[in-house]
Amino acid sequence: MMRDFTIKQYISLLDHLKQSGGAFQTVREYASNPAQNAILLRHDIDDRKDHALVFAKLQAEREIKGTFYFRIVPESFQTELIQEIESLGHEIGYHYEDMDFAKGNTQEAYRLFVEHLEKLRSIAKIDTICMHGSPRSEYDNKDVWKEFSYKQHGIIAEPYLDFNFDDLYYLTDTGRMWDGKKFSIRDEISTTKKWPQFHSTEDIILGLQRKNLPIPVMINFHPQRWTDDLILWLQELLFQTTKNQIKKWKKH
Ligand SMILES: [Zn+2]
Repeated sequence: MMRDFTIKQYISLLDHLKQSGGAFQTVREYASNPAQNAILLRHDIDDRKDHALVFAKLQAEREIKGTFYFRIVPESFQTELIQEIESLGHEIGYHYEDMDFAKGNTQEAYRLFVEHLEKLRSIAKIDTICMHGSPRSEYDNKDVWKEFSYKQHGIIAEPYLDFNFDDLYYLTDTGRMWDGKKFSIRDEISTTKKWPQFHSTEDIILGLQRKNLPIPVMINFHPQRWTDDLILWLQELLFQTTKNQIKKWKKH
């Protein structure tokens, strides 16, 4: 069996997406001028930031642009790396987790959000943000927006709050599979539609070939999970299996 979540599989997915004739839009572009055939490649850079650069380059080589959300923590944030990714034509956004930092204190979370946004804006153009959902956290990072507004800061979109998932099909590699939403307590979107399910990257590619992958689509990647290195790949598999158990347990 072919291993999934390898760079090889990723390249194959990119090439098939490109062949599908969809329009690659960044989150910023989709928020202001959505294309009917939009393909949004959204990357959450939780860890192993160097993998983000690999993804960014593979896309740029194919004239594909995507959106990369960076956390403010050292596992993710690095000035030169972020600037290099932006210079390849991609969008940079803030992967915020300020409710976690503030241990649920909304005022403090907002203060931190503004500070962190400013820091990111000093190195890249930031128009969109996207929450980080840690399965180990008891806080929902979106809760800061129950009291405060990001629009006030010129942020035009937070996909979880501004996109309509009855119109936009959503796929995520959360849980290290494409149909692992059952393991996720944070990455939940609301939709009334019965969307098709895909398990492996190969299934998505088959879906593209058979023209039954719904479009417009937002595909969410965690590049740290994708590697050709067998040791790293096995580590990630074991780690994710444990994490899925924790998530399942926390959900009940
Ligand atoms: Zn994240």
